[in-house]
Amino acid sequence: MISWASLLVAGSQIGWSCFDGVATPTAPGPGMVGPGSPCPRVTIGPETMQAYPMLPDVLGTLKVTLDDDTRWPQGANTIRQDIRHQMARILEDPRLVFEYSPPLVPVAHLGTKVVAAQTIDGNRIRLSRFAGGPSGRDPTVLAQTVAHELLHVFQVRHQGKALNSFFEPAWELPAYALEAQLPAGAFAGALVSCTAAPPPQAASGPCRPRRTRPGPAGQGEWVAWMTGAGWLRVGREQDFQRPQRVSDDIWGGTSTAPLVKTRIGGPWWSREQALEEITAELQAVTIAFFPTATPKEVTQGTYRGQRLFLRLVYGEPMQGYVGRDYAMGEEVKSLLANGISPRVVFGAPRYMIHARRGTPPSETQFWSLVGTPPKNGAIELPDGTGGTFGYRVDVVEGPFIDGFQLYPAMARANQRTIGEYGSSRTISLDWAVEPYVDHGTPLCSSTR
Ligand SMILES: [Zn+2]
Repeated sequence: MISWASLLVAGSQIGWSCFDGVATPTAPGPGMVGPGSPCPRVTIGPETMQAYPMLPDVLGTLKVTLDDDTRWPQGANTIRQDIRHQMARILEDPRLVFEYSPPLVPVAHLGTKVVAAQTIDGNRIRLSRFAGGPSGRDPTVLAQTVAHELLHVFQVRHQGKALNSFFEPAWELPAYALEAQLPAGAFAGALVSCTAAPPPQAASGPCRPRRTRPGPAGQGEWVAWMTGAGWLRVGREQDFQRPQRVSDDIWGGTSTAPLVKTRIGGPWWSREQALEEITAELQAVTIAFFPTATPKEVTQGTYRGQRLFLRLVYGEPMQGYVGRDYAMGEEVKSLLANGISPRVVFGAPRYMIHARRGTPPSETQFWSLVGTPPKNGAIELPDGTGGTFGYRVDVVEGPFIDGFQLYPAMARANQRTIGEYGSSRTISLDWAVEPYVDHGTPLCSSTR
């Protein structure tokens, strides 16, 4: 099953790792309090929360699913109804702690296999970075992993399973059967919403005045979600709910499997409010460059602990469905409008040079970014066929490690764009606003 068979790791370089220490209880989310809530009341450690932000939603959905008898097969080799219901009750127990340890310790008799999760005792489930599948973000795989371990918790608490009885078929077979019988469809669409809203940002430092009118808190149909391939998307609830295929996603390839979408923000009142709220929380926004891919350039940023490719602008039906088209210029504009300049990061320091070759009227001259500094006013550059051309260099600036350092030099030289020598990458002054800041600014609490 998924927990083991898909986790072959080449070689044995996965070392022993230390654990993430004592988990502290998370603040309960909106739906987490009160009897009859579908949401779990377990304790999720901070590192676990960061690794699996969708875990509360997955646990809430698992709890509802375990209690819903109509979704389970009947008969021999199925998990008994009363056991499923007791597992749901365990998800209401704050003593059950979810810990995180990427990767877990290798189990000796599995050779090079890595464990997706472990039940440490009757109160502790430890997840590795493999618990959510290869992407780390697949709610169905995470649900299967957690259901497996939750049954072990039940076995420890109620059936006398000894700790460290890793591979006894009497305990393992039911856990694998449960994974197989878990109604996968329950986790393919919208999950039960149990994720706590982040605490309101204290406006201690400078804040950004709101330009859009926020609606009533927690209402509206605009939401943010992430996809299995790691895209941050913004759209209406109906777009989030709409079934899509993996191949509908940029870089999704040809797979016709259902596209996994995980809600990570909202609801908000309008698209404008959604963009304002999301960009306020974006960190480390960059322009990622993939010379051989389509699109070859996309924006990327960290949102609520997840490193994601940003697709804030297009792709929703009501805007004219544009599928896998990526409107880089529009994406950058939406960031600039919110005060963020996506940072161009160079793999190695770059020099900006003005190179000349030949004599007028057949003189060649150009600006370019190169990786090696000119020497004595001259530089040899590849000619594209294995040889080199020699150039005279009359201006050299740098070295620069990123676009933010380079832009003032470009402005002095009156160059709005400049290419990297030998690459299809172009750096543009139009993709930055001063002051150059690569992250959002908390929004002021009141409208002005
Ligand atoms: Zn097991």
